[in-house]
Amino acid sequence: MNNHLSTVVIIGAGASGMIAALTAAEDPDRKVILLERQQRVGRKLLATGNGRCNLTNLNAVAGTYYGMDKSFSDYALRRFTPEDTLRFFSSLGLLTVTEPSGRVYPLSDSANSVLDVLRYALDHAGVEQRCSSPVEELLLDKTRQGFLIRCPDDTFHADAVILACGGAAGSKLGGVMDGYRLGKALGHSRSSLHPSLTRIRTDPAIPRSLKGIRVQASLRLMYGNTLLASGEGEVQFTETGISGPAGFDLSRSVSMGPSGQQLHLCLLPYPDHTVRALLCARKENLPELNATELFTGMLHNRLGRILVKTAGIPADKSLSELTERELDNAVQACMNLTLPVLGVDGFDTAQVTAGGLLTSAVSPMTLESLIVPGLFACGEVLDVDGPCGGYNLQWAWASGALAGRLGA
Ligand SMILES: Cc1cc2nc3c(=O)[nH]c(=O)nc-3n(C[C@H](O)[C@H](O)[C@H](O)COP(=O)(O)OP(=O)(O)OC[C@H]3O[C@@H](n4cnc5c(N)ncnc54)[C@H](O)[C@@H]3O)c2cc1C
Repeated sequence: MNNHLSTVVIIGAGASGMIAALTAAEDPDRKVILLERQQRVGRKLLATGNGRCNLTNLNAVAGTYYGMDKSFSDYALRRFTPEDTLRFFSSLGLLTVTEPSGRVYPLSDSANSVLDVLRYALDHAGVEQRCSSPVEELLLDKTRQGFLIRCPDDTFHADAVILACGGAAGSKLGGVMDGYRLGKALGHSRSSLHPSLTRIRTDPAIPRSLKGIRVQASLRLMYGNTLLASGEGEVQFTETGISGPAGFDLSRSVSMGPSGQQLHLCLLPYPDHTVRALLCARKENLPELNATELFTGMLHNRLGRILVKTAGIPADKSLSELTERELDNAVQACMNLTLPVLGVDGFDTAQVTAGGLLTSAVSPMTLESLIVPGLFACGEVLDVDGPCGGYNLQWAWASGALAGRLGA
């Protein structure tokens, strides 16, 4: 495409749009306009990581992302790695901390710090920022070539446009369908959309009584005898099911899978026979204790009591009275706690959208449309999403930095 662009309009001042604007503005001959429908830039960024902003993850590399074409994101992610994200933010003056898991946070533990350094960089680079400017129409400008971008109070002409509208997730924070609609008007289709990184709803009986308890668990998502997905890590029980990073990571599969799935939780990191031996030792050493104390010292007390109940052991029995069968059932309840899955929470609380604009119509090397030259897309609006833990912001930075090069 033409390298002597005069005006670039970026639609959406979220993570990917802001870095795209900064990259585009590196060329002093370009006028860069950043349009944002909300009253301020980067609103969603402030809510990320529970307000701490998990801005990247050292493991967020090519091959760890989802989408219809799993390799589409590879080029952008190789070109702008998590180390590049660290260098980029360091150059803006942000201090960061990398946790042993690879998750990176600002040293201040405040998402505000991330947004502040981006805002100052945008001002310094001379990017024209227009907030409260929802783009309603994106058209080809047939008379002057390029694009016409219509907001309620203004119309812009651009030689190139970067679509950085984000996805449908986090609707309370500005997640909207606009990017798909604007893309569609220029011939781009989208795949079906599913909420991901959100709470899994299960039969509430067990989770409700464990509400607020966090455990480290291994999880298997089953449909009949078919394993749909598995994972391990922190799970938090909620009023309606489970959340926490390990639950979030399975929510994508729940959301895209058939109804009738079951979630199996393994609550101790030992083989079944070891757990059985521990329970037998408890029975022998403290026979006078009530059966409800079977797991005391091994698991959260409330969780232990629920497992005893799930195993069908009467609460008024003493440990000395437990039968072999009841011990087997207790092992089973602990190592294979089964929760019937009802679905996932919706887009309002989801962190990311699984699905998006079809990547088959976008060049992976430039993120330029293969349908409309001069139109680029980046971030969550595309059919690319990642696991919990800094992966989705890494995609936003990497794809925004690539789109902002405008094919150069
Ligand atoms: C609660 C929550 C917590 C999260 N925590 C993390 C985390 O810790 N780590 C992580 O990696 N990811 C996290 N994510 C995911 C991550 O925030 C997103 O994947 C990322 O922000 C996507 O960047 P984006 O630029 O594509 O979209 P967004 O950041 O959503 O930005 C899109 C912007 O476009 C604007 N816009 C939309 N339509 C228009 C229009 N018509 N005209 C003008 N502007 C428009 C929107 O208002 C928005 O500001 C979290 C998400 C949520 C909801």
